Amino acid sequence: MKHSYDIIVAGGGHAGCEAALAAARLGARTALVTLSPETVAQMSCNPAIGGLAKGQVVREVDALGGAMGLVADQTAIQFRLLNRSKGPAVRGPRCQSDRDAYARAMLTRLREQENLDIVADEAMRVLVADGRVCGIATAVTGDLAARAVILTPGTFLNGRMHCGERVWPGGRVNEPPSTALSASLRDLGLELGRLKTGTPPRLDRRTIDFDRLQRQDGDGDIVPFSFLTVRLRIDQTPCFIAYTNERVHQLLRDNLHRAPLYSGQIESTGPRYCPSIETKIVRFADHDRHQVFLEPEGRDTDWVYANGISTSVPADVQLAMVRAIEGLERAEILRFGYAIEYDFVPPTQLTSDLQVKRVPGLFLAGQINGTSGYEEAAGQGLMAGLNAARYVARQESVVLGRDQAYIGVMIDDLVTKGAEEPYRLFTSLAEYRLLLRYDNADRRLTPLGHEMGLVDEPRRRLLNEKLAAMERIAAALAACRDGSKSFAELLRRPEMTLTELAGRNADLARLTAALPLAAEQVEIEVKYAGYLERQARQVEGFRRRELRRIPDGLDYASVPQLRHEAREKFARIRPTSLGQAARIPGIGHSDVTVLEIHIERLRRRQGHSLS
Ligand SMILES: Cc1cc2nc3c(=O)[nH]c(=O)nc-3n(C[C@H](O)[C@H](O)[C@H](O)COP(=O)(O)OP(=O)(O)OC[C@H]3O[C@@H](n4cnc5c(N)ncnc54)[C@H](O)[C@@H]3O)c2cc1C
Repeated sequence: MKHSYDIIVAGGGHAGCEAALAAARLGARTALVTLSPETVAQMSCNPAIGGLAKGQVVREVDALGGAMGLVADQTAIQFRLLNRSKGPAVRGPRCQSDRDAYARAMLTRLREQENLDIVADEAMRVLVADGRVCGIATAVTGDLAARAVILTPGTFLNGRMHCGERVWPGGRVNEPPSTALSASLRDLGLELGRLKTGTPPRLDRRTIDFDRLQRQDGDGDIVPFSFLTVRLRIDQTPCFIAYTNERVHQLLRDNLHRAPLYSGQIESTGPRYCPSIETKIVRFADHDRHQVFLEPEGRDTDWVYANGISTSVPADVQLAMVRAIEGLERAEILRFGYAIEYDFVPPTQLTSDLQVKRVPGLFLAGQINGTSGYEEAAGQGLMAGLNAARYVARQESVVLGRDQAYIGVMIDDLVTKGAEEPYRLFTSLAEYRLLLRYDNADRRLTPLGHEMGLVDEPRRRLLNEKLAAMERIAAALAACRDGSKSFAELLRRPEMTLTELAGRNADLARLTAALPLAAEQVEIEVKYAGYLERQARQVEGFRRRELRRIPDGLDYASVPQLRHEAREKFARIRPTSLGQAARIPGIGHSDVTVLEIHIERLRRRQGHSLS
């Protein structure tokens, strides 16, 4: 082979960029093979990063030394902390991004990263020798050798796009699909599934009547993504809100037979939480209007993303639909919405380090695993990059727990439950969401990232400074008194804020002003101390179950009294702990008990240490 690498990442989307950067940062000689470097880190759908649960993931990626948060901060045009008035567990930072600037900034990072080559080519086939990955075959460059391969081809696997009756092969608008790679995965014995998603039309800013729309500005006090971005001041660009109406709905009802996302022309499963407008008017037939967020795609562009009317109806219906909306009567469409269906690898075929069970050294991350969303892709990419580098170095895999990170929740859900529909994160999926907040991702993950070699010294120092500041603020709150009550006790009152208490004491004011991030976290931890303690106790129980390991290679056929369905599921998913076994859909408490008794017997018989 012409070139030889430790790790090859195939696909330069959000998963591929984080995977390649993480692997290279860990010292692995890495190649990022991608169809075209100009489309690296493209936002295929909405020009935004973060949101509920997704914002937490961006912070987790950042806390582990990843790039998404820094690039998002660098290229944002508007910031909002969602659910600001609600509890801290469900708040999530989000930004509107300048789509092109984001992709350019990520490409610059990739180019500047040591140990990383960017190869403009198509990965056609995964090469395997002696049952292990040994490289990839590319379309032009030829075969490239590697000890581990990470596939991150997004929506491109056997992609077919639909706009009304028009159907054509493609991975994303104006980009070809990746068909050979799909076939190669089948040849390796992997089962593939099919999913679908859609995107809305992009409008010409100059043809929108903004005066007739509701304006939505960014936050006055910006909450950036990266823990390294201490303060951020930018000129923020407003978004606007429009509404569909009965005329729009009637038009869509009349044309449902021409909407592939709805009509059955595409048979695969789509995202339930992010339905097309044609699906919404049927599913929510009693709603007389739906919101349409008009999001600018950048500072120096006329492209506006019409969030909320993702659609697959033909171009003529799209134009009529858009022009039936108040404020958009004169609107021109710069790019029509479309639907895409693509192959994915049902992720129960992976172990928790995102490695394909039947092909050691082959890792998968992003949309190929049935997820949807840039942040979900980035989180998996970083973990795949880390674990591929550890695989190459013959080190043990790193798996984040459900109690440690949203990334851990997501990967555990994927490998344990699979993805029947495009998977996206919600705060409701995290049992311990009060612990997995956006504000404490650095405390949760930066020490681990540093130990693994992903996080550099300045980032760790910043965390240590924050921890020291938190201690000082907490000590001041305990020491300051107002009558019989300490400030800490006063802060527990719902109506009390740290800012108000700081107004009563100069020392506290100085401490909180010096490190607002530390102050924010102390405030949350004091206010929610009771809930946090309760959740910490639940986590102890969870950890005990996770520590009850199931021996590698356990022969489930030899477990007496196990139900047939449980036997089949355990053998297929191969859970690593009794905790994970219990989370497999369709597995009952009694199945886990039968398994536990069997393992206990084995342990006694073989003197095995299982816990
Ligand atoms: C039409 C459409 C609508 C979408 N709608 C939504 C939505 O509503 N909500 C949402 O959260 N997400 C949506 N997404 C998904 C979002 O874009 C993805 O979840 C996210 O981009 C996945 O990241 P990724 O890194 O896995 O793949 P991608 O970002 O798709 O990147 C894949 C990369 O791999 C490259 N590539 C592919 N095959 C090969 C190959 N064989 N060799 C080399 N390079 C290759 C491509 O050029 C590309 O750079 C949508 C995507 C599309 C296309």
